Amino acid sequence: MQLSKQFLNQQQDQVYDALIVGGGPAGLSAGIYLQRYLLSTLIIDKGKARSFWMQELHNYLGLPPDTSGRELLNQGKDHYLTTGGDYLNAYVEEVIDEGETFAVRVRIGRKHPTYMIVRARYLIAASGIIDHLPVLENMQNVFDYAGHNLHVCLICDGYEMRDQRVGVFGSSESSLEVAFPLGWFTPYITLFTNGAFEVGADLRDRLQAKGYRIVEQPIKQFLGENHQMTGVELADGSAIELDAGLVSMGSKYHADYLKGIDLEYKGGNLVTDSMNRTSHPRIFAIGDLKVGMNQVIIAAADGALAATQIWRDIRRSEPPRNFQTNVHAA
Ligand SMILES: Cc1cc2nc3c(=O)[nH]c(=O)nc-3n(C[C@H](O)[C@H](O)[C@H](O)COP(=O)(O)OP(=O)(O)OC[C@H]3O[C@@H](n4cnc5c(N)ncnc54)[C@H](O)[C@@H]3O)c2cc1C
Repeated sequence: MQLSKQFLNQQQDQVYDALIVGGGPAGLSAGIYLQRYLLSTLIIDKGKARSFWMQELHNYLGLPPDTSGRELLNQGKDHYLTTGGDYLNAYVEEVIDEGETFAVRVRIGRKHPTYMIVRARYLIAASGIIDHLPVLENMQNVFDYAGHNLHVCLICDGYEMRDQRVGVFGSSESSLEVAFPLGWFTPYITLFTNGAFEVGADLRDRLQAKGYRIVEQPIKQFLGENHQMTGVELADGSAIELDAGLVSMGSKYHADYLKGIDLEYKGGNLVTDSMNRTSHPRIFAIGDLKVGMNQVIIAAADGALAATQIWRDIRRSEPPRNFQTNVHAA
């Protein structure tokens, strides 16, 4: 059920089988599988998922290609709640390993927050990442187009950019390397440094050999209307026309609450085994936060794997369940 602060207060003694941090596609999928394994589950989600920002999910089998992230999340949450799982809108601040259980410190509310401790035997980190965006004087100008035709994911939207004039917005030399796989979809590529970093001779030669243009002036603003970016205005007032953009500036990883636990990372991503178990035996990581491919279909599959492994662990470590009466005996 959808939990409130009051309800949680009355449930202080409950120990969930699994607590899932994050209610995106990864966390919701794990929650549905765990509940269907008859395990008690709590999903805690702070909102503003990366998937919420996705305007259209073009590449997910069985869903219409204009399905929005919002629709996917609403439908997934309703599905999870019908299985009897608990869901709380809150922010997970800290996880403490108590040996058999985890004590999870949760902040509920923003203006007048209250803090609570929730306990669980297993923890699933499904808290994702969020993309860095170009920093311009008027950030609303960036938000107007980001996620529409100012894309952040080449795998998701390369197809949408085929044969288009695409601007690549980088934050470092290495971030501009994305131009080469983008070149599979379109040859019309302009790279923008926003005046923030130098492009070395080697990369410059390789980009220019492909016919890609490099613009090193600061950007004043994106141009366009109705969430469709049509170009860029530079600091000197000149404009460059574009059909789409690709931001390649890295991401923030939502894993601060795990700081107190020694886990293996690669970059900001958690390293896991094939069932998504991290280097801690009772912590799993799924979706964009773990090493792998950042896609909804992978996040959903990750949830199924982690839930199944937790079920196996619990099933193998406990005596068989006691069925009350055998209704089929007669
Ligand atoms: C603009 C855009 C377009 C995309 N298009 C596609 C596409 O077409 N196809 C595709 O397959 N993929 C697409 N993606 C990628 C896709 O959105 C991600 O791969 C997917 O959302 C990953 O799911 P997740 O559950 O790991 O993370 P998320 O969806 O980000 O969910 C994580 C949740 O955890 C919450 N959280 C984080 N920290 C905490 C905390 N401390 N306490 C509580 N909650 C917390 C977050 O707020 C969030 O709600 C796109 C992404 C973007 C940004």
